[in-house]
Amino acid sequence: MNKKERSLVLIKPDGVQRGLIGEVIKRYERTGLKLVGLKMFVPTADFVKKHYLLDPGWKQSNGEKTINAYKAKGQEPPISDPIKAAEKTLGRLKSYISSGPVVAMVWQGMNAVEVIRKITGGTEPRTSDIGTIRGDFTIDSYEIADLDDRSVRNIIHASGSPKEAEMEVKHWFEDEELMNYRLVGEEILYDVNLDGILE
Ligand code: GDP
Repeated sequence: MNKKERSLVLIKPDGVQRGLIGEVIKRYERTGLKLVGLKMFVPTADFVKKHYLLDPGWKQSNGEKTINAYKAKGQEPPISDPIKAAEKTLGRLKSYISSGPVVAMVWQGMNAVEVIRKITGGTEPRTSDIGTIRGDFTIDSYEIADLDDRSVRNIIHASGSPKEAEMEVKHWFEDEELMNYRLVGEEILYDVNLDGILE
């Protein structure tokens, strides 16, 4: 069990423009996960492309997800080849994520990737669960986004697995930008004996 698992989270340009920086940070912070890196900048289109291609399987899984989302609604996907569908999505993602400032963060703690994904919600806001960031704060769908030839605007990027997180953290942060520190609340989360509370 890795109590120092990390996840990379981006508040995408739509999240920044919607005034959701504080709300998003609050939702992750109150779980007990620890913020160990934080910065804001405008990434280039090339930097965004490299980010999505860090995982060699991304095109296949992203394309399949898109196709399956259409099929689940009884609709015909606009592109039937997963790799081609993902390449289309990647082109749109480059202009979306490089369109303005993003907030990049690294969150650390037990099952950080899973906890962050749970709070963030499913990729398509139309079907993301209520109570998640994507379900509560936006309404976008693949259908309208594809029709307008743009990315689904879903406020957040969050690492999909611990392995992906490691690559993404390296891509977005220098080692010296990441903080090593203790939070007092960690004792309540991780200590075996809660023996320091009573006087
Ligand atoms: P995530 O891990 O939940 O962000 O999902 P992916 O890595 O598969 O997709 C990356 C991003 O591309 C998503 O967060 C959406 O912003 C966008 N996106 C993914 N699939 C589609 C699609 O089929 N159509 C459109 N328009 N945008 C998509």
